[in-house]
Amino acid sequence: MRRQKIPNYIKKLVYEIYGGGCGRCSSKEDLNIHHEDRDPSNNSLYNLELLCFPDHWLEHNCRPDMLIWYLKQKHIGEIIKW
Ligand SMILES: [Zn+2]
Repeated sequence: MRRQKIPNYIKKLVYEIYGGGCGRCSSKEDLNIHHEDRDPSNNSLYNLELLCFPDHWLEHNCRPDMLIWYLKQKHIGEIIKW
């Protein structure tokens, strides 16, 4: 389904729920919001998980396009939202 921008207040809530760290390893760097059901249009709180990029990338079987996207985002200093 079509990707929809996660509203900022939802992002803040997810960030708070996970204590500002990755849900798998507690890293506080390169955080992304992961859609657990793989549906980027489902921005329900229950569907979102805070993950660091390495854990997020693993979760998506190390997709090459995702790595390229990530490096671009990082280069221009934008918050990661996958
Ligand atoms: Zn992690």
